[in-house]
Amino acid sequence: MKAALAQEPLELGALGEQMYTLVAELFPTCRSITGDGLRATLRSLQQFIPVILREVPSGTRVFDWTVPAEWNIRDAFVKNAQGERVIDFRKSNLHVVNYSVAIHQKMSLEQLKPHLFTLPERPDWIPYHTSYYKKTWGFCLTHNQLNALPEGQYEVHIDSSLEDGHLTYGELYLPGETGEEILISTHSCHPSLANDNLSGVAITCFLAKHISQVPHRYSYRFLFVPGTIGAITWLSLNESTVSRIKHGLVIAGVGDAGPLSYKKSRRGNAEVDRAAMYVLRQYGPETNVMEFSPRGYDERQYCSPGFNLPVGRISRSPHGTFPEYHTSADNLEFVSAIALGDSFSACLSIFSILEGNATYLNTNPKCEPQLGERGLYRTMGGLSKDSTTELALLWVLNLSDGDHTLLDIAERSQISFEGIHRAALLLRDHGLLKQVRNSYHGVNPRL
Ligand code: ZN
Repeated sequence: MKAALAQEPLELGALGEQMYTLVAELFPTCRSITGDGLRATLRSLQQFIPVILREVPSGTRVFDWTVPAEWNIRDAFVKNAQGERVIDFRKSNLHVVNYSVAIHQKMSLEQLKPHLFTLPERPDWIPYHTSYYKKTWGFCLTHNQLNALPEGQYEVHIDSSLEDGHLTYGELYLPGETGEEILISTHSCHPSLANDNLSGVAITCFLAKHISQVPHRYSYRFLFVPGTIGAITWLSLNESTVSRIKHGLVIAGVGDAGPLSYKKSRRGNAEVDRAAMYVLRQYGPETNVMEFSPRGYDERQYCSPGFNLPVGRISRSPHGTFPEYHTSADNLEFVSAIALGDSFSACLSIFSILEGNATYLNTNPKCEPQLGERGLYRTMGGLSKDSTTELALLWVLNLSDGDHTLLDIAERSQISFEGIHRAALLLRDHGLLKQVRNSYHGVNPRL
């Protein structure tokens, strides 16, 4: 589907490769919900977009939560009696339970075992574990690695710090013609996991880059936040202006081979829900639309009842539904440039519909106007047959009664949104339609 926000030609293949390269570049970094790995990741994005790093001090109260102490890690290992690193943070940062407190101690295998986590059903994979809010330490390893550990003494070392510092998030605001905003949010706190969350980081970054280069009606706000606490922190600091958000999308898990999926906002019938469902239908019958539920990513916060923002979520395979989720198998082989390009295109198509959607009023509603006299028959040359037909003009004229949006008309007529949009602009330019200002939102824009 051609996106109105797209500059022609949109090289999805090349874009997918660039996004994949970014995922690969960010993959080795040990990120967490705070700390230097998260900062380094956000700074890497500055090679593409002028994202601003915001620092919120530890201890800041954010609704029912408190910004935690900042965690940083330099090294970690378990050494056997021969001094060999049998579990080594340098080989994979998943080996350390994220947010582990520091330890340096010798102990028996028996004493060590309660701190070791494996996946017996996937004996070659390392699980991903966190302990943000309980002070503890631990290691994750493959089940085969565990089975190979003999009885004996081990040296356990985690060189980490957990102290007052900051929570960092990235924010980029692109002003449009109106102060009404589209919010795009992605979590950025996972260490070496590719689909969850680097695919979302890369696509959000490249969407921001693209939208910064093309004209747009809405203002766009891009957030790169640590999961849960980052979204809560942003909402807490920006509560007075969230009413500007007219549409929103959480982007997460968009690089795997599964079909596109969309999780509706809590409202269930927000314009972004309608636009996303419309776009997914164009991507084929295997795509998947889910109702809202209070489980998932940061849509949980944006859709909490005190905000109830029109924010849905786009993913491919929903989290938790594939065995690679939160394991070392969510690696660079699990994501592809093709899937990243495809997801990027779907997001852009959703924004294109939101940009172009409007409600019009037919200024000549008593019987059909004389289109031939106005030169409106066979004037839409150069467009594809599907979107060029005079039928689009007739549908737009018929349903532009002030109650139907162009998206309503596209759905009902089965003509592409782009074709309906083009027809509406043509009719408007000939004085046969006038726009009903923001009838869809019922809110005055801050122009
Ligand atoms: Zn996750």
